[in-house]
Amino acid sequence: MKKVMVIGGGYGGLRAIETLYKYEDIAITLIDKNPYHYLQTEAYGYIAGRFDVHEVAIDLKNWCEGFKDRVTFIHKEATSVNFEEKIVYLDDNELSYDYLIIATGAKTHFFSFIKGLRENSYGVKNLQRAHNFRVEFEDLIYKKLRHEEGYQEGELNIAVGGAGLSGVEVAAEMAYVLETYSKTIGDTAKEIHIYLIDASDTILPGMGKYSIEKTKKRLESLGVKILTGAFINSVDGSHIYFKNGEKIPYSFMIFTGGIKAAELNDSVKNEKNSINQLIASPELNIQDHEEVFAIGDCVQIKDSEENILPPTAQVAEKSAEYVAKTIRQRIDGVESQAFDADVQGIFIALGGKYAVGEMFKYIKVKGYIAYLLKKAITHAYYLGLRFRINTGFKNRIR
Ligand SMILES: Cc1cc2nc3c(=O)[nH]c(=O)nc-3n(C[C@H](O)[C@H](O)[C@H](O)COP(=O)(O)OP(=O)(O)OC[C@H]3O[C@@H](n4cnc5c(N)ncnc54)[C@H](O)[C@@H]3O)c2cc1C
Repeated sequence: MKKVMVIGGGYGGLRAIETLYKYEDIAITLIDKNPYHYLQTEAYGYIAGRFDVHEVAIDLKNWCEGFKDRVTFIHKEATSVNFEEKIVYLDDNELSYDYLIIATGAKTHFFSFIKGLRENSYGVKNLQRAHNFRVEFEDLIYKKLRHEEGYQEGELNIAVGGAGLSGVEVAAEMAYVLETYSKTIGDTAKEIHIYLIDASDTILPGMGKYSIEKTKKRLESLGVKILTGAFINSVDGSHIYFKNGEKIPYSFMIFTGGIKAAELNDSVKNEKNSINQLIASPELNIQDHEEVFAIGDCVQIKDSEENILPPTAQVAEKSAEYVAKTIRQRIDGVESQAFDADVQGIFIALGGKYAVGEMFKYIKVKGYIAYLLKKAITHAYYLGLRFRINTGFKNRIR
């Protein structure tokens, strides 16, 4: 039996386990500092109150039980790794491996050059912060509904800093919810404005022209105020201050403007880029260690034309499948090919039953059809998780 250890139960870690499970001579251990898998891609709906917590988080112990004793779950933080000795350190224990997959993802990068950003904004890459924002957002709407005196009277702003994929989705869903609520709870909901702010001269920097144009149109129709080319200088408890001297008042702020690879990379002796992602070989190995792989957001991944790919669940899952198969080849002494992410496109949820997407470079869709396609992808993913959980429960009953 070969021991494969996976650190991180995110999109990459879970897909790696699903693929490795096919090989019966492999024993798998999953380590995660959280007891749940967080479906970050659904965070926009959770924040806006459209999804419940059970739709964005899955218990990892129950999920692992769906593999009939083949996968052991350890709810601990991995603190460091000794590659020479092939040992992963937890705060109170150490575990040995034959093959290691680092899948620790990334966290929000609250840029230190923006004074007050960390103290005054929420991130969405962690369930707790997303949950805190959801509570604030719900509370705000509740108080508006009650016309509560002395609290946030009149016009107020919610700011989303960063107009990449996650920022755009969060802004659109909140604006959609407010627009819908204004019909039921009254016009006070219209007093809440959503600002989407980015330093680039466009929203969705790096994405296709079609997605950018259609997304902008949709956001504007939902009343989102888009500020591009807007450099945030500092944030205090009441205002966002821009480099050009302007400022806007705000009540709550979400920051989605950047990511940084998770802390475990700090203890890993390997070349890293400016956002702490590991620089791996074409086979996604870390330097000098053919038995150690890195996948997903914690590693810098390039396409066949050497462009750095944006970190997405899709790339995390593809790199996971590749690495699981490569481990099989290494065990069998078979040579492996370099990883090719071959990204097939992306769908952007834009509030309610509306999305925009581009697939295989040529297919471009928007509106309800794009929403149905996005929903089908996310639903299939969720059903896969539920399948494992249900299998685990059946095993327990026996
Ligand atoms: C709002 C939002 C919308 C998005 N929409 C899309 C989308 O539509 N399509 C898309 O493809 N992507 C989307 N993404 C991006 C996508 O969610 C990420 O790229 C993806 O989660 C990366 O997967 P991962 O497995 O690398 O890391 P993660 O999913 O972040 O998982 C990392 C795991 O590692 C664990 N961990 C970290 N450090 C340690 C440690 N030291 N010890 C133990 N465990 C540890 C964490 O607890 C976590 O469970 C979106 C992201 C956000 C925030």
